[in-house]
Amino acid sequence: MKKWIRKLHNLITKDINNEKEAKDLAVLLRVLSLIYIAYYIFVALSLTHLYHYGHAFIALICAGLLGGCFVITYDNRTKQARRMFHIVTIVSASYFTLMAGWFMNFQWNILITILIIFYSLELQMSKKIYYMKLLFVLIVALAIFTHMAPTYREGSELFSFFFQTIHVFFYAIMLCIIAYCYCTKFNRAEEKLRQFNQKLIEMASLDALTQLPNRRSMNEHLETLVYDNDRTGKPFCVAIGDVDFFKKINDNYGHDTGDYVLKTLSELFQNIVKGRGKVARWGGEEFLFCFEGMSVQQAHATLEILRLQIEKYNFQFKEHSLKITMTFGLEEYSQIIGIESTISKADQKLYEGKNSGRNKVVY
Ligand code: GH3
Ligand code: MG
Ligand code: MG
Repeated sequence: MKKWIRKLHNLITKDINNEKEAKDLAVLLRVLSLIYIAYYIFVALSLTHLYHYGHAFIALICAGLLGGCFVITYDNRTKQARRMFHIVTIVSASYFTLMAGWFMNFQWNILITILIIFYSLELQMSKKIYYMKLLFVLIVALAIFTHMAPTYREGSELFSFFFQTIHVFFYAIMLCIIAYCYCTKFNRAEEKLRQFNQKLIEMASLDALTQLPNRRSMNEHLETLVYDNDRTGKPFCVAIGDVDFFKKINDNYGHDTGDYVLKTLSELFQNIVKGRGKVARWGGEEFLFCFEGMSVQQAHATLEILRLQIEKYNFQFKEHSLKITMTFGLEEYSQIIGIESTISKADQKLYEGKNSGRNKVVY
């Protein structure tokens, strides 16, 4: 049994090849077509039982047409399948309402059609509303016609009760299926949007080359550190690091090698700041570090470890093997001067380090 259910599920959800076609609409049409085929066969059998062979034959034709509708969804023709589905359900609902009367409830199949019209993405909203109005006019016309021309009403009380009950269950099932499809469609769209937003947020806060946080993201982080410092007095230090003679690397080995050095350095930075604070690409070959909950002596010791690591590191890119060094300017945040001046002071110290021989941490 499970095997058959899985087979049916695979058949219904089988993907369509044409990317322009809406997959979920094709799946919904397949499900509804199969249920409608069973429905029309059931209607045909009931009518045969009452000796209405002509009407039963029409119900069978509807079942056949919906079979065709089911098949063409596999042929990248969801649009045509939807149109065919609408025509068959609207025409047959009108026909059977006129034939059997208003109280048999055949006319509500038209409402199912309206729900499918609104489900389709390819139709413009104005068109959907236009079709909806048209179908409402049709329902009203059927109501007037069946009440004004009672000769069209056939069948016994029992037959009428039977179809009314069957239709209530049938429409309940249809509504549940369509509601389920609407829900899954919107949940999927919402999830996609959420993932897309997340990606945009990441893209807006990360530097594309090094994958480090960018300047904007670091500024936001510094704001939270300042806020914490104001409230709890938790200290933090900022340092600006700049690659020594980086221009020469680009000039001598090419821009690619320069990019590789920046990326490799970023990995070394990430390892050293992990659990201690944050590092961001501040611009070009300059990086801003913040060391949280650390005195300037502790931050200096950490930067010294990093400086020595960089000095020893063998940067290997293609046939080039090179050594580089970095200079750092370090400053502890002070509420009195504020964050911008703290960064300026760190920058001045970096400048001092550059002017006094490079490859050092000045604080
Ligand atoms: P100093 O020791 O005084 O800092 O010398 P320097 O050569 O490092 O200083 P300068 O500011 O003159 O050079 C920085 C160079 O960094 C210039 C620019 O071409 C290069 N640069 C900036 N961003 C990138 C990048 O994303 N990739 C590469 N490959 N180079 C970059
Ligand atoms: Mg430099
Ligand atoms: Mg520079």
